Amino acid sequence: MTPERRRRINRLKKLIMHAVLLMILFPTAGCIFLGIKLYRVGRSAERLEDQISFLEKALQDSVDAEDRAQALLAINEEIRKTSERESEARAEPEEIPENDILAEEGRKVYLTFDDGPSIYTEELLDILAEHHVKATFFVTGKGKESYGDTYRRIVEEGHTLGMHSYSHEYGNIYASLENFRDDMRQLRDFLYDETGVASSFYRFPGGSSNRVSSTDIREMTDYLDAVGITYFDWNISAGDAAGGTVSSEQIINRVMDQLPPHRVAVVLLHDAADKRSTVDALPGLIERIEAMDDGTEILPITEETMLIQHVQSGQGSQG
Ligand code: ZN
Repeated sequence: MTPERRRRINRLKKLIMHAVLLMILFPTAGCIFLGIKLYRVGRSAERLEDQISFLEKALQDSVDAEDRAQALLAINEEIRKTSERESEARAEPEEIPENDILAEEGRKVYLTFDDGPSIYTEELLDILAEHHVKATFFVTGKGKESYGDTYRRIVEEGHTLGMHSYSHEYGNIYASLENFRDDMRQLRDFLYDETGVASSFYRFPGGSSNRVSSTDIREMTDYLDAVGITYFDWNISAGDAAGGTVSSEQIINRVMDQLPPHRVAVVLLHDAADKRSTVDALPGLIERIEAMDDGTEILPITEETMLIQHVQSGQGSQG
């Protein structure tokens, strides 16, 4: 081999070595460069993503805030309506507290009218009919000439027809047992002729506890027992006996004030020409009684009615 040839081979070897070295170095450097580039792009993409999600969240928050504002407005409106309804409810009158025992057994109220018939009886009957309420009329015989139809209407409309003496003259009927008996028979016969009803209920003028009678009232109560007539006094007085001095509002209030403790209440009212305020009181009185509680009923007196008597019959004379 010539020296010339050897040099050429060596140059060629160097050239190949350089080429190989370059072929390794270039891609490596390129890879490193591209890697760095890629890393940078990735970082900026991440930042962009962060920015996008931040903006999205901010947008969602503003939408949520609007929703919350709407919801708050709706709640405020609901609160306003509810408080309006509550204040309306508070404006209603308070109900009278119920007595537990009475609510269980019920309260029976008997409205009784003494001294009729009168110029007002028809009006009282109209009011009772309008309210579908039955009452008890303790009548006298004084309306014999003018009120024949009225005695009959009392019976026909389902009210209880009771006796209150024919003459209503205390001086006469309480003078003796005989007088009392004759007066009672006269009324009983008259009512039977007029209405076909043989009344079996009696109310003493002034009550069985009256201080007018010069005869012992027990002689008369024993007599009534003997002939099968039941007498009733009252445990609630409407206070309308005084005539024009009592207003209808006072009558209603007096009865309502006394009612609560009574399971059985017999209410004394009057049916007379000078008792206009009693007529005016009746609708309100019925409505107030019926509003008391679920167990309260207004009824006419019957054989089943619990006795309300100031002086008990069958006790002989005492005191
Ligand atoms: Zn009377």
